[in-house]
Amino acid sequence: MTVADVLQKARQDGRTLLTEVESKELLRESGIPVTDTLLARTRAEATKLAQQMGLPVVLKVVSPEVTHKSDVGGVKVGLDSLRQVRGAFDSIVSSTQEAVPSATILGVSVQKMADPGVEIIIGANKDPQFGHVIMFGLGGVLVEMLKDVSLRLVPLTPRDAREMVREIKSLPLLQGYRQFPACSLESIEEALLKLSSFLEQHEEVKELDLNPIFCYSDGLVAVDARVVLE
Ligand code: ADP
Ligand code: MG
Repeated sequence: MTVADVLQKARQDGRTLLTEVESKELLRESGIPVTDTLLARTRAEATKLAQQMGLPVVLKVVSPEVTHKSDVGGVKVGLDSLRQVRGAFDSIVSSTQEAVPSATILGVSVQKMADPGVEIIIGANKDPQFGHVIMFGLGGVLVEMLKDVSLRLVPLTPRDAREMVREIKSLPLLQGYRQFPACSLESIEEALLKLSSFLEQHEEVKELDLNPIFCYSDGLVAVDARVVLE
């Protein structure tokens, strides 16, 4: 599916919230690394995809009505046998049905388990007056509780990207601290600049969340993506 296909399909269905699979497909164009993620409509399809991709894999619910997949028991990580994949498929479907009885379940997404890294978040929002604003912060509780984020308007300059990465209070955690291995600040800057160019090309994006991105000493990869169109 091309970007145009993804956008057209969503419009056709009258949806503004793209699924994880669609959001990642769209983001492929930006050049930001994302985990290859495919949709399985049945348990047998999920097993086949897992086998093709290679274990361990992660399965997640794909439903236009579910935004926070783990909240409904819709994410199973570290599946390292096909038996576990089959079990995870069933458990994701049944717990989503239980949590959101009205949800349309399109299937389950299958992707490879990414190596653990420092979790960061990159997001964007479109302000009616100023246009796209890009946000950067560390993943998890640091963003939620401490609001330790940096913000800049699109288009970002390389200097903006450098500053965004370095002005958060939790910067030392990115530079290597205790259980946090050092992560490549250059890769984050690069991702911020790629996102800025992508958003310049895509006025129709209202909200975008890459949460989390796993950051390593030599690069990064987004394992979850969520896009909302205008
Ligand atoms: P949610 O919709 O709840 O935000 P996510 O896709 O972010 O769902 O998955 C929840 C958590 O599962 C992530 O924060 C991450 O820690 C873990 N996770 C998701 N995808 C992967 C992956 N491909 N590899 C490793 N861990 C993953
Ligand atoms: Mg997420």
